[in-house]
Amino acid sequence: MLKGNGISDGIGLGKVILLKKEKIKPEKIKIDNVEAEKEIFQKALKAVEEETASLVEKLTGTEKEIMQAYLMILQDPNLVEETIKIIEQEKCNAAYGVDKGFQKIIKMFEEIDDPYMAARSRDIADMKKKVLNKILNKEEINLSKLPPNSILVTKELTTSDTAKLDLKNIEGIITEEGGANSHMAIMARTHGIPAVGGIKQAMGQMQENDFIAMNGGTGEVFINPSEEECTRLREIKEKLKWEKEQLENYKNEKSMTKDGHQVELLANIGGVQDVSIALKNTAEGIGLFRSEFLYMDSEDFPTEKEQFEAYKKVAEKMPNQKIIIRTLDIGGDKELKYMKLPKEKNPFLGYRAIRIYLDNIPLFKVQLRAILRASHYGNLAIMLPMISSLEELREAKQIIEEVKEELRNKQVPFQEDIEVGIMIEIPSAAILAEELAKECDFFSIGTNDLIQYTVAVERGNEKVANLYSHFHPAVIRLIKYVIESAHKNHILCGMCGEAAGDLAFIPLLVGLGLDEFSMNANKILGARKLIRELNFEDCKKLADTVLKLSTTDEIKKVLHSIEFC
Ligand code: PEP
Ligand code: MG
Repeated sequence: MLKGNGISDGIGLGKVILLKKEKIKPEKIKIDNVEAEKEIFQKALKAVEEETASLVEKLTGTEKEIMQAYLMILQDPNLVEETIKIIEQEKCNAAYGVDKGFQKIIKMFEEIDDPYMAARSRDIADMKKKVLNKILNKEEINLSKLPPNSILVTKELTTSDTAKLDLKNIEGIITEEGGANSHMAIMARTHGIPAVGGIKQAMGQMQENDFIAMNGGTGEVFINPSEEECTRLREIKEKLKWEKEQLENYKNEKSMTKDGHQVELLANIGGVQDVSIALKNTAEGIGLFRSEFLYMDSEDFPTEKEQFEAYKKVAEKMPNQKIIIRTLDIGGDKELKYMKLPKEKNPFLGYRAIRIYLDNIPLFKVQLRAILRASHYGNLAIMLPMISSLEELREAKQIIEEVKEELRNKQVPFQEDIEVGIMIEIPSAAILAEELAKECDFFSIGTNDLIQYTVAVERGNEKVANLYSHFHPAVIRLIKYVIESAHKNHILCGMCGEAAGDLAFIPLLVGLGLDEFSMNANKILGARKLIRELNFEDCKKLADTVLKLSTTDEIKKVLHSIEFC
């Protein structure tokens, strides 16, 4: 048995798919039979062309358009001529010819100072990889089309890999790296995919098609387990299913304590596809739409129209409910392949989220126009991530006003009084909460980042994961101050970090007066059950007790020992 960190609850039983991320760099080999190499190249090109053409037939919408663009690249005579020329002139192997020939064209595109052309260069690089895989007989793993009951084993699953995952067929994720607070882990939990991180050399210890039984709650991984072990895990799986079914009873209940204090339970989503999970779990709105997933899921910046359609769809699927759309939060551990952000020593302290937007106003305006236009179809709100000062809030609000004015001039309808709120996820913003509350419509506390910046512990770094805790007294005191500052200024305070869904933490948050809890939709019914067993007056007393404590351990002990958890 291997033991890692349980990062997404649930039992997974299935076969290993190893996701190796190797760079293909073919060596140059001198060849006598140039004609044979040219034929190998033409054959591989034709095979990729046929596969792509058949995808064009099957797909619709943007995906179809992308495949059509790929097809055009494969049929581009320049690429073919360039590769053939290299094979002939250098008397070399087909793989080397493709690498050099395609690379020459890629470079040409890269040198054109135009983001559209730069994106095409990445498309050609993708095609190069496909043709090389064909020549070298390498199977490429298509993350969006996995065999049933797949357990994906890899060194590190990037957030954009996660966005592509075939949710129907994935049974579990095992990674060598990655802590419980990485975005990969958050996405796994949203979709109820069992995941275990921190299994050292997982790739070396597991073979393709090995049978795996894993427990995403405890971090246990069994390779080719005994029948007895499988039965034990199947029983846990059944029990978890049963517990989930019991929670169905809370679907039509209010999120209200025994003594009548009501809060709101909302869902965090990463795209339109997650709305059904939110609805199934009777979310009372969307407290965080991580719009960056729309960008990460795409081969290029999503257009205003594409974004408008996505936001409108969510608004229409959840009429009468508040939907908080967070503007692009890229940077940190979330990369946009096509954006070419500079490599930084400390990406979490660098060029991220609102900082990028205030530096690229036309890009910011595209998203704002899309949100504002969609606001005509529902109750949308705009949320700004990574605000660290009043200046940033003021500048962003000024830009929102400009976009509103542009839309008014064009007589495009939008919700005039759309709320503009901010994430409180940087300690400077928490400390300035009094002042910030006077200039925005709501707060949402992002504990995932607030913890990492308060205690100086990178959220995805498992080496220091023991220091990362929402039970830290400094974090709790900041939360208290933020909620108080919001209420003093008559605005609502929510929380959309992972801590909002922790059953051991919820009684304290209720006692501190948090208004909205936004979480992974799968946690909503359990949270509602708990809240209905609580007494607001007792929670307030609990908060008083906790605020007097000054160590994480003491706080954890108190919060884990209270009766209702
Ligand atoms: C947070 O920081 O708590 C948050 C919700 O944002 P993200 O996890 O996307 O950084
Ligand atoms: Mg954050």
